Amino acid sequence: MQFTVLGKRWRLRFVPNLGSNRGDCDPPDRQGKEIRVAAGLRGEERLEVLIHELVHAAGWHIDEGFVERFAVDAARVLWRLGYRDSNTGSPS
Ligand SMILES: [Zn+2]
Repeated sequence: MQFTVLGKRWRLRFVPNLGSNRGDCDPPDRQGKEIRVAAGLRGEERLEVLIHELVHAAGWHIDEGFVERFAVDAARVLWRLGYRDSNTGSPS
């Protein structure tokens, strides 16, 4: 799927193999930039990785430690509020 963050267009892909990473994010000034998320993730962990990579997209300069902690916290809140995976998040 495609989406925008702060007015810039991104593509989100769920990919079978990201090596040791659960997700990654291209630099915001790259043409055809993507966020890639490991396809095997489910539930609160997938939500956490999506939030993590979206924060990188929005604030490329933001410290990794901050991003990690914020994504865990935000995923926990959204999970408790009832967010769940949908079928639209399947590999594309
Ligand atoms: Zn990161």
